[in-house]
Amino acid sequence: MSTPSRDDCVALDRDDPLASFRDDFVLPAGVTYLDGNSLGALPKTAEERMQNAIRQQWGQGLIRSWNDAGWINLPTKLGDKIAPMIGVGAGEVIVADSTSVNLFKLLIAALRLNSDRRTILMEARDFPTDLYIAQGVADLMGEDYECRMVPTDEILAALDESVAVLALTHVNFKTGAMHDMAGLTKRAHSVGARTIWDLCHTAGAMPIDLAAAKADFALGCTYKYLNGGPGAPAFVYIPTAQQPTFHQPLTGWMGHAQPFSFVDDYHPAGDIKRFLSGTPNILSLVALEASLDVWAQVDLNLLRAKSMALGDLFIELVEARCAGHGFILASPRDATARGSQVSFRHEEGYAIMQALIARGVIGDFRAPDIVRFGFTPLYTRYVDVWHAAEVLYDIMATRAWDTPAFRTRAAVT
Ligand SMILES: *Cc1c(COP(=O)(O)O)cnc(C)c1O
Repeated sequence: MSTPSRDDCVALDRDDPLASFRDDFVLPAGVTYLDGNSLGALPKTAEERMQNAIRQQWGQGLIRSWNDAGWINLPTKLGDKIAPMIGVGAGEVIVADSTSVNLFKLLIAALRLNSDRRTILMEARDFPTDLYIAQGVADLMGEDYECRMVPTDEILAALDESVAVLALTHVNFKTGAMHDMAGLTKRAHSVGARTIWDLCHTAGAMPIDLAAAKADFALGCTYKYLNGGPGAPAFVYIPTAQQPTFHQPLTGWMGHAQPFSFVDDYHPAGDIKRFLSGTPNILSLVALEASLDVWAQVDLNLLRAKSMALGDLFIELVEARCAGHGFILASPRDATARGSQVSFRHEEGYAIMQALIARGVIGDFRAPDIVRFGFTPLYTRYVDVWHAAEVLYDIMATRAWDTPAFRTRAAVT
C-alpha cells in the first residue's frame, strides 16, 4: 500500500469534525506549527479579552475590579473549567503559580500525610524541574528523606512500603510514552503510597479521568496544549475528600480562611483555596479563560482520535520518505501508548531542527538527540503533517541542515 498523498490529507481535513477550531487561533502565515506541546497558539479571543482587562478593568476599574470584574474568583472559576477535562468535579481544581512551585507544595503536603515514610519515588529522565524540585524537597525535609529516581521498567519493583509518594509525569516530555495511571496508582495504594500525577503533556492532549484512576493529587501546565499563553499559571487537583487534611507549606494570605480579616494567625481556607499562596496573576488568567472557553466546546474523544491519527500519519510518512537518513523512532509506535507528540532520535537532531525552523516547520529539539513534533488537533491539519514530512525529506536529501549556522545553539532550544 502506498503512503498517503497530499490529496489524501486534504480529504482527511475536509472530513475532520474538529476542523473549524483552527479559525479560533492566530496562526502565522508560512508557519507549520508543531510545537503547541511547548507553547500553545494564541486564541483569537484572548487578544480582545486582554485588551478589555487592561483598558477597562485595570485602566478604569482599578482596584474595584477585584470585585466588579470578579478577579478574586478567577483561580477557582478557571479550575472549574479545567475540572471536566480531567474527569473531576467542581471545587477540586485551582489555578495558581507555576508547575514547579505547585509540585513543591503538593510534595510537602503529601509527605506530611505519610509522615512515617521518607521516600519520594520518581522516574529517571522525567522532566528536570520535577526531579529537581523533588530533590530540593527531600533536602529540606531532612537527612533521612530521599528522592529515589529509577528507570521506567523498575518503577513497579521500587514501589514498596518505604515509599511515601509516587510522583510521575503521565506522558514523558521527550518520548511521548504514556504511563498506565490507574494501574500504577492502584499499585501505589496497595503499598500505602500516595500519588502525584503531572499532566503537563496530558491536559488538552486527551481526555483523562483522574477520579476513575483514583489519583491522589495532580497538576499541570496551562501554556502547552491548553493554550493559556507564555508563563500562564498551572492547575492543581486536590479531591474534595482530601482537602481538610491537606497542608501545603506556602501559607500565604490568599490561602487563608479570611484573607481580608487581616488577623495574625494562619488558618487555612476550608476548601481548595487553601492551596493558594499570594495574589493571582490576573492578566494571565484572563488569557487562559479565553482558551478554556474554546476548550469547553471540544469533544475530547474526537480530539484523541485525531491526535492518534496525526501521530500515526507522521510516523508513516517520515519512515517512508526519510528511510536511510538515520532517524530512529523514540516514541511508542502504538498510538494508544503515546501522548500527542512524535519524537525521533538523530545524532544531527539539533541542526536538522534549525533547518526545519528556517523553512517554517516549527518543532523542537531536546538534548541530546531528540527532534520532537507536537500535534495539537485543534489547529494542526493532516496537510500540515504531510508538509512537515516533505520538508524534512528535502532537508535530508539536500543536506540543507549541514551548515555551521544551524549548529550554533541558542539559549532556548
Ligand atoms: C513543561 C513542564 C514543566 C514546566 O514547569 P514550569 O514550572 O511551568 O516551568 C514541568 N513539568 C513537566 C513534566 C513539564 O512538561
